[in-house]
Amino acid sequence: MIRRRSKTNRELIAEQYRDSDGFWIYLKPGYQNGFDPGTHGIVEDTKRAAYETLRGAEPCDCAECRELIARAAAQNGGAR
Ligand SMILES: [Zn+2]
Repeated sequence: MIRRRSKTNRELIAEQYRDSDGFWIYLKPGYQNGFDPGTHGIVEDTKRAAYETLRGAEPCDCAECRELIARAAAQNGGAR
């Protein structure tokens, strides 16, 4: 059973920026867009709307996320 607790934006966001398509948020490894399962990015017309969508972020354990998490853990270990 997945324990639900609201994550802070800081815990969820890897990157965010605005371009001609709108306001983008890329989720950190381990999270997916709950409104579009299997995707790890959010794009909305406004920052406000993107942050609304961000609240629907769900834990993700796809191969891509697991790979990125494993790589990050290896890097952290090497930095010590
Ligand atoms: Zn994933």
